[in-house]
Amino acid sequence: MKHQAKKRFGQNFLVDQSIIQSLISAIQPQENDLMVEIGPGLGALTKPLLAHLKHLHLIEIDRDIIEWMQGQYPAEKITIHASDVLKFDFAQLLTAGNKLRVVGNLPYNISSPILFHLLPSLASIQDMHFMLQKEVVERMVAEPSSSEYGRLSVMLQYYLQMEYLMTVPGTAFDPPPKVESAFVRCVPHTQLPYIAKDTECFAKVVTMAFSQRRKTIRNTLKALLTDADFVALNIDSQLRAENLSVQQFVEISNYLG
Ligand code: SAM
Repeated sequence: MKHQAKKRFGQNFLVDQSIIQSLISAIQPQENDLMVEIGPGLGALTKPLLAHLKHLHLIEIDRDIIEWMQGQYPAEKITIHASDVLKFDFAQLLTAGNKLRVVGNLPYNISSPILFHLLPSLASIQDMHFMLQKEVVERMVAEPSSSEYGRLSVMLQYYLQMEYLMTVPGTAFDPPPKVESAFVRCVPHTQLPYIAKDTECFAKVVTMAFSQRRKTIRNTLKALLTDADFVALNIDSQLRAENLSVQQFVEISNYLG
């Protein structure tokens, strides 16, 4: 199809066949997987995925692409959900006894909102494989006390085990994005390593602590914790948010709740 890439939909289409093959090998699609692709675009991943799968769900916002895609495959192979992924309810795809596998070369302009939108559905998700801005993937997998470690790292690592799979150069896309990309695998923890009693409180503590990342947590969490509280928690109040582990954020949250 002749298609002018739309910037507002973050359209950077994958064109490098050897990279596409590496992505498919990493995903390892199995015939009966209950799989959903976010943003199929012109089918760079859709086609090779469908070579392995009986059926694939697609979520796409671009009307031109939806119309074209409908003509590409018989109805039993694909189900197109013409929707904004940020408004899409993933639970509606569930079938008895099957967990969802989510894949996509995501629109980079809304990649973090997509990740946060998926968190409430994680109990129904087997795994997720995403192409994202390299810098975002680095933040997702970052260790404490590194400059990439932040709210995204803590919030996602609480729920997910993540693996940086490969770096993908701009030349693999048309049009090429201005930044490098990376492919990441995210698997929900079978058992959460640390359990926050109140996940809203946990999210609030993390957001507050990172609101001014140069400041100490004594300062950023002043409204929540006194010096005596930090002593009781056995956490040095002179640390910055970037020095705290996921476990320590959970401990603070549970202390408050
Ligand atoms: N999968 C294709 C590929 O790898 O070549 C296209 C990837 S492109 C980076 C992102 C895709 O997500 C586009 O097809 C775009 O139209 C779609 N998209 C953008 N925003 C979306 C949204 N809010 N909801 C659903 N799809 C969206």
